[in-house]
Amino acid sequence: GAKSYSFMLRTKNPCGKVSNKLYLVMDDLADQFGIGTLRLTTRQTFQLHGVLKKNLKTVMSSIIRSMGSTLGACGDLNRNVLAPAAPFARKDYLFAQKTAEDIAALLTPQSGFYYDMWVDGEKILSAEPPEVVKARNDNSHGTNFPDSAEPIYGTQFLPRKFKVAVTVPTDNSVDIFTNDIGVVVVSDSEGKPQGYNIYVGGGMGRTHRLESTFPRLAEPLGYELPEWEFKSYLGWHEQGDGGLFCGLHVDNGRVKGTMKTTLREIIEKYNLNVRITPNQNIILCDIRQAWKRPITTALAQGGLLQPRYVDPLNLTAMACPAFPLCPLAITEAERGIPNILKRVRALFEKVGLKYNESVVIRVTGCPNGCARPYMAELGLVGDGPNSYQIWLGGNPNQTSLAKPFKDKVKLHDLENVLEPLFYNWKRKRLSKESFGDFTIRTGTEKLQEMVDKWE
Ligand code: SF4
Repeated sequence: GAKSYSFMLRTKNPCGKVSNKLYLVMDDLADQFGIGTLRLTTRQTFQLHGVLKKNLKTVMSSIIRSMGSTLGACGDLNRNVLAPAAPFARKDYLFAQKTAEDIAALLTPQSGFYYDMWVDGEKILSAEPPEVVKARNDNSHGTNFPDSAEPIYGTQFLPRKFKVAVTVPTDNSVDIFTNDIGVVVVSDSEGKPQGYNIYVGGGMGRTHRLESTFPRLAEPLGYELPEWEFKSYLGWHEQGDGGLFCGLHVDNGRVKGTMKTTLREIIEKYNLNVRITPNQNIILCDIRQAWKRPITTALAQGGLLQPRYVDPLNLTAMACPAFPLCPLAITEAERGIPNILKRVRALFEKVGLKYNESVVIRVTGCPNGCARPYMAELGLVGDGPNSYQIWLGGNPNQTSLAKPFKDKVKLHDLENVLEPLFYNWKRKRLSKESFGDFTIRTGTEKLQEMVDKWE
């Protein structure tokens, strides 16, 4: 028979905002045309895997009609713009989210080519300037627009993916330092936005054994700000406008099975809008006080409430899709991380670390770093079949860059490296010192010794 090609497509949702309607459409599409699961990404978007070529048009047009868009979600142009997902009714948060949406709009390619491709030229959005239509009509290939057609990108687009995040001081739910441009909204004492602080030059993409490629943190242009804190937004919170929101952990961002049906029921029944966080979790928004109890019951029945369903290690862990979904993968990530976390938990028990201790663990299938492993306290970056380069030294608030520690550690040898490290952390840590801070303070050489001398 003919080979069926399957595609992955990604939506674009600045600040991770997803309308009620779009959520329900994505949930349906995953069942009808995907592999029955939805994936929430580290850039606050959806990925739909396993869409067959013959169904692409139907899927794309459904998404566009529900006001979602996949335009600019991949390729060498601006990626989805991050902003804190929390629906706080606060001037600074609202301003940061509006700024993210404005930047996304500004950096969206103006060409209408895409819509022609997917929805038969039907004008669903009117983002297409007349000169672009003319340029396309004058050109039989339809792609070679004059510079003026793309006011920001010209004809060249960008040398690589470009990443922008916006946030407010102290809120590092967006991994601000990993972005090419980080925008921080600075407000006065009444919370009124006064301007921006800009961070530049962060990036996670690198290539093994190519020294000219390396992950780096963005650096501030401007005055320094109060300390950053990672915010997960899990659990119930007041929005500040009388409504509530509830953040739910999604393992690796993969919405499936009972979780998928439970979420769908709640989101549909209460007509909720949702937000996707940069940690691949989901926030149910605009919940009335009176709904808290029935929603809590429904979540509990679906097994989605803490502490029953997640190990604390899973709460901060992330993995990229890797095999079988990403063509660049060298080894497993999403499929492998559940077992890796179980093994880390077992080591914690063995060396006497408590259940509520946590370490930020991130795993990727190649050095591209989609799940930002270079910011993890323990990062595993695929560097061969069933083998990983180990990175140490990020911290729980995502403000420091990890360092490479060991290459080509085979998956089955993980305990040989991790047990001595956890054992020494438990015994030699300063009060409340995180694993990442401990590894930085100790230094690579000493850590190396600990591993080599371990029996
Ligand atoms: Fe694919 Fe590599 Fe990104 Fe993982 S890190 S999703 S393997 S490109």
